[in-house]
Amino acid sequence: MAQEMKTITIAGGGLAGLALGIALRRVGVPVTLHEALRYPRHRVCGEFISGVSDETLASLGIDAALAPAHRPQQVRWWSGSHFLSRFSLPEPARALSRFALDEVLSRQFRALGGEICENSRVAPVPAPGLVWTAGRRPAKGPWIGLKAHVRDLDLDHSLEMHLGSHGYVGLVAVEDGWVNVCGLFRLMPERARSSEPLLLTYLRHNGLEDLATRLHRVPWREHSESAVAGFRLGLQPPLPGLMSLGDAHSIIPPFTGNGMSMALEAAALAVPPLQRYARGEIDWDLSCALVRQTARRAFTRRLSLAGTCQGLLLAPWFRRPLEILAQEQLLPFSLLFSHTRR
Ligand SMILES: Cc1cc2nc3c(=O)[nH]c(=O)nc-3n(C[C@H](O)[C@H](O)[C@H](O)COP(=O)(O)OP(=O)(O)OC[C@H]3O[C@@H](n4cnc5c(N)ncnc54)[C@H](O)[C@@H]3O)c2cc1C
Repeated sequence: MAQEMKTITIAGGGLAGLALGIALRRVGVPVTLHEALRYPRHRVCGEFISGVSDETLASLGIDAALAPAHRPQQVRWWSGSHFLSRFSLPEPARALSRFALDEVLSRQFRALGGEICENSRVAPVPAPGLVWTAGRRPAKGPWIGLKAHVRDLDLDHSLEMHLGSHGYVGLVAVEDGWVNVCGLFRLMPERARSSEPLLLTYLRHNGLEDLATRLHRVPWREHSESAVAGFRLGLQPPLPGLMSLGDAHSIIPPFTGNGMSMALEAAALAVPPLQRYARGEIDWDLSCALVRQTARRAFTRRLSLAGTCQGLLLAPWFRRPLEILAQEQLLPFSLLFSHTRR
């Protein structure tokens, strides 16, 4: 006789929540997912996925959803208006808009029998079977993230990284000729009112005038401009009694392009304990403890290294040495790449 399984409730239908929902449905676990907004929607994200293995994508069952992604491998890097260097990532990344990806994943989850409640905001109240994948938590923080899609930019199949005085911005081609432009900047204390997009104001404030001029000349995708502020990077304060995954658990500095990979890896590592809980083999507390332990092992080192690297990237005293090291091709990119991904 088929065994009745307990339902898993997922709060937050971003990458962690949708991937987890799909993986659980594939092994027959009943899942209800609550998403505060509606699909499809633009999100602040560089949309550059780097680090997650093909095996993890296949084990979650979302490899086909990511198949249309561009596979950029070359990076071109500027500091202000100075071109610093060009290098090749040890393995190609994936680039696909969250507008497209989350929509495809939500359809896949529904097709597998998952229930989605859109426009449904859940409260973080611990309950057995409730998984918290609701993303960044409101907190006082010094950062603002800004993103838009533009077109008619020639990126030469590369990722462009532009380092500014108080932040950085990446450009990468996503689907249908659109280019994602997304940056993380220190919040400006105050700014004069302006009719231009906030992203351009921040680029100019960061000494990225050439890039702002380039972007000013090209078409911008309607409704794609988005902004987020009021969050902290690194490990997030724990929410007692809740199983938190993805950004709700920890936020890696975005220059790594590893945040979405971490959300997917976290979903993958949570599947076996959740499956055992749903079958009644272990209780909820043990399931949470197992996920916490595995997540700590998987993410602590890369979070700490990425935090140190971002500090150096943005430290005024390190800028000149950094530029010289980059121009002389003396930065250990491959080593940093692998250590910020495992
Ligand atoms: C400026 C910037 C650039 C970035 N660039 C990159 C990049 O290039 N590559 C990369 O890999 N990562 C990048 N990231 C990080 C990446 O976006 C996140 O790590 C990733 O989105 C985390 O996925 P998630 O599912 O945990 O959260 P999210 O994708 O944020 O999803 C959370 C979902 O929960 C919903 N929600 C919120 N509250 C509730 C509630 N109470 N009830 C129900 N639903 C709720 C939200 O609407 C949202 O859909 C960037 C981040 C920033 C800030």
